[in-house]
Amino acid sequence: MVEQQAAASLQQLDRWIADEERRETERRQREERQPSPPEWLLERGLNKSNVVAVHTGACWDTGKRHVPVSREQARNALCQRVPACSRCRPDTALGFLD
Ligand SMILES: [Zn+2]
Repeated sequence: MVEQQAAASLQQLDRWIADEERRETERRQREERQPSPPEWLLERGLNKSNVVAVHTGACWDTGKRHVPVSREQARNALCQRVPACSRCRPDTALGFLD
């Protein structure tokens, strides 16, 4: 009788753990679905064909016309003499030295 009770409470414990793990998994999946902010941004000029600055994704001063880009694209832009933003210093973040 005591053993049966122990077995029953173990089963219940297993169920609780399984529930807990399922909730944890669901929570993690929800977080992963949230889009993460881009790491790098290119700020476009008025005519949209030129790029006027490179920013990190965390910059607060990216202007109104910016597009998210990959690290490689941000590097390329700096290589092509697109100015690095003086506030967020993407050149330093990307390993460019003055
Ligand atoms: Zn910036």
